[in-house]
Amino acid sequence: MTRTSTRPEAPAAILTPPAALGVIGGGQLGRMFIQAAQRMGFDAGVLAATSETPAAQVASWHVVGLPDHLPALRSFASRAQAITVEFENVSAAAIRWCAQSRPTRPGWRTLWITQNRLREKRFLARHAIPHAPWRPVCNTAELETAIAQLGSPVILKTADSGYDGKGQIRVETLDQARAGYRALGNVPCVAEGWVEFAAELSTVVARGSDGQAVAYPVALNQHSRHILDSTVSPAPVGPIVALEARTLALAIAQALEAVGVLTVEFFLTRDGRLLVNEIAPRPHNSGHLTIEASECSQFEQQVRALAGLPLGSSALVSPAAMVNLLGDLWIEAGGKPDWAAALGADPAVSLHLYGKRTPAPGRKMGHLTVLDPDADRALARALEARRALSRRST
Ligand code: AMP
Repeated sequence: MTRTSTRPEAPAAILTPPAALGVIGGGQLGRMFIQAAQRMGFDAGVLAATSETPAAQVASWHVVGLPDHLPALRSFASRAQAITVEFENVSAAAIRWCAQSRPTRPGWRTLWITQNRLREKRFLARHAIPHAPWRPVCNTAELETAIAQLGSPVILKTADSGYDGKGQIRVETLDQARAGYRALGNVPCVAEGWVEFAAELSTVVARGSDGQAVAYPVALNQHSRHILDSTVSPAPVGPIVALEARTLALAIAQALEAVGVLTVEFFLTRDGRLLVNEIAPRPHNSGHLTIEASECSQFEQQVRALAGLPLGSSALVSPAAMVNLLGDLWIEAGGKPDWAAALGADPAVSLHLYGKRTPAPGRKMGHLTVLDPDADRALARALEARRALSRRST
């Protein structure tokens, strides 16, 4: 008989500056977490694949390695007094291992559920949280059943490691579905009924280890090529939809027992229903505008929750808009976006660049944020500043 012993998780003490906080993952979300932690006086470090990553560039200390590589993880955990992640595809086993000796957030169970679309859908169904119709697809027989039951079109999504529309194919016929499933590698998938949505919304919430939680105002998101293009907050929706989005997001964070920041993406259907599309157990691109627009940003909330400190206020100081800067802009601008034109045309524009050296189509390189008492005008101004980046004066 095999015996398993599960050591209890490390008790969550309150950590105060200059304690060492560590984030697993070197991307822009890790970078902005580190910047928030450093501003508060913490000694913030990262476990990242290279020392060139956006987070490692600004970290006070870093360990180079992959999150599932035990020696790297051991060296990282010997320095970090508490650990968080910037992306959900860290193995739950690695997080469990860290949690034996350090407070580790958002917790392995939250990560394990949200890093796999099948587990996430089952979680939503179990908690009666509204979501799009779906079927599991682990073989061609299930694919045929899914197409027969969901109608057309259907979107096939790989269960593991999908983001920004990667690992997704929209199909209209059974033949297309078979070809699509093959193209996705015949791996376990979720087949989802196509939702004719009126809008895409998201809500960022922060939850402390004592169960206290706050929700940011619901934001309106526009995607282009399945990648977030712009966010406006507050979203121009009625008070009932806004309240429901925040209530659902808080209920999800509670049901997952998540500690830290968690984001829920929704479809708003044409008849006014909210359907959960996706859960991200971390700060989110649609929450970047909280850096300037909120009393406490999503990254500071992540720091506070990790350290066991009281959460901050999620109130907006102003309506705001954010537009992403993708690598395509560099290509359009002949390699050199015109920063002076964008910033000079509107002094209220805040520029964030993530320190990525190589622009590539679809790669998130940075973002612009504009605050304006009129949210629509904030978006128009942010879009105008972005246009100025690639408008060449020839
Ligand atoms: P996801 O990675 O699941 O968030 O999907 C990326 C984007 O694809 C979403 O933001 C939507 O714009 C679109 N999308 C995903 N699933 C559906 C669906 N079931 N119906 C319509 N559009 C979808």
